[in-house]
Amino acid sequence: MLRAAHRRLHSPPQRATWPTTHGMTDFLLYNTLTRSVERFEPADGETVRMYTCGPTVYDPAHLGNFRTFLFEDLLHRALEYAGWKVKQIMNLTDVDDKIIKRAYERGVTIDQVTEPMVEVFHRDREFLRIRRADAYPKATEHVPEMIDLLRQLIDRGLAYQAEDGSLYFAIARFPSYGKLSRLDLRQIQPGARVAADDYNKEDVRDFALWKAAKPEDEATGAVWESPWGRGRPGWHLECSAMSMKYLGKTLDIHCGGVDNIFPHHEDEIAQSEGATGAPFSRFWCHGEFLLTDGAKMAKRVGNVLNVGQLRDAGYGAAAIRHLVFSTHYRQQLNVSEEALAQSTNAVQRIGSFADRLERGDQGIVARAGDGRGAGLSPRAEDDRPDAPTELGAIADEALARVRDALFHDLNAPQALEALFTFIRRANAALDVGAVAPASLERARAAFATIDSLLDLTPAPVDDPAVASWVEERLAARAAARATRDFGAADRIRAELEAAGVSIEDTPGGTRWRKVR
Ligand code: AMP
Ligand code: ZN
Repeated sequence: MLRAAHRRLHSPPQRATWPTTHGMTDFLLYNTLTRSVERFEPADGETVRMYTCGPTVYDPAHLGNFRTFLFEDLLHRALEYAGWKVKQIMNLTDVDDKIIKRAYERGVTIDQVTEPMVEVFHRDREFLRIRRADAYPKATEHVPEMIDLLRQLIDRGLAYQAEDGSLYFAIARFPSYGKLSRLDLRQIQPGARVAADDYNKEDVRDFALWKAAKPEDEATGAVWESPWGRGRPGWHLECSAMSMKYLGKTLDIHCGGVDNIFPHHEDEIAQSEGATGAPFSRFWCHGEFLLTDGAKMAKRVGNVLNVGQLRDAGYGAAAIRHLVFSTHYRQQLNVSEEALAQSTNAVQRIGSFADRLERGDQGIVARAGDGRGAGLSPRAEDDRPDAPTELGAIADEALARVRDALFHDLNAPQALEALFTFIRRANAALDVGAVAPASLERARAAFATIDSLLDLTPAPVDDPAVASWVEERLAARAAARATRDFGAADRIRAELEAAGVSIEDTPGGTRWRKVR
């Protein structure tokens, strides 16, 4: 499946000639606004101001949402590696139709629905090793900023209050509407079904900025005072108000999933540029969908898989990250048990390699999944005759290749390929032995840098109960081996493997790690 994913990668961004010298490579990124890969640098040359649309907190975010957040995490790390500071803001949508409906059904306030979900979001985010953004502003805590923005839009004649008390954005008065999504506006004409509130609008394409209070809003605490009466903000408004509050009028990068392009991001541009007259974001970057059985993973389709479920099923963060990074962010990715199992094997190899580098073991040692494991198919270039065989040179080349891959529109699958080539060649060099200490250090440093970007080393078990059970089983196995009862020893190994624990006998004793 992973190999198929590599092949599916159509028109991957061109790779620069490598090896390169540090600090001199361009950072290339696809910009949805121009539909092309462009050279990126922050406007002030120093700090990347990046806004990432966050989750709507009424249910745990699903793996599809997290695919987008993982792509943004990798982008954040790659930008820092390129030498810039990154200021990342991710909003939490804690007031919207679905939240209000949920709260109303349960007879509680919206806060009672959203607060526990914000906690779940951060728990899942941390589990997946997604670095913390600089701030996670909540929509409900930024209503005054949104009201300010509405005032500016009214002053500029771009917003109006309709008979139902709601405020709408007048698309006809904003000529560049549609520049991001490049939709033919005639296609957004009313169809057969016209929602009731559409009769209040000047133009059926106009979108709500502020929604007049309804009884459900009053009942659930989703209501604020405004110069236009009691009501609540529309979804798009929060992102314009909060991104500009924290990052200024013009952002460097605005991210989200492709489903955000229209209408959400198109409407954010209309509101922000309509109010300030300045370009809202220089780059727009969108991640493709995560699918299950070929359909977009979405709550309304009912095919969602969330991080808690995966964790309970024994999948590790490293495996989930590997699965997500095995496909380019602009390609669709299908999740399946088989793919997760292959990713689990792949990161196990990374873990064994990390251990070996740390210990500096030389000479031939038995390795789990040695040879050509999942998604590790060697390319002809990996075995080219001039490939380095000295560990330090192997490491330098690997790092340069990972860097080039990530700096070329965040080509994570190509970075993975470089990492596995590194592992294969470095293992071969260590098998031969007589590696100089300085070369070993270079390999450790290169691996640490690559791992600080991709973060794919399986975590040691953090559950002490599991650890003591494993230790007890290993002691029983050692006792069986001491009495030459190899049948019993094999059964214990099988028992551990069934529980997702892989073991490796080394001259220094038996080592183990949880792989699932
Ligand atoms: P939401 O909570 O629906 O506002 O979504 C949060 C983020 O997840 C947005 O950037 C969406 O574009 C993204 N997203 C939603 N569904 C998927 C999916 N199946 N695959 C990838 N990203 C998604
Ligand atoms: Zn948004």
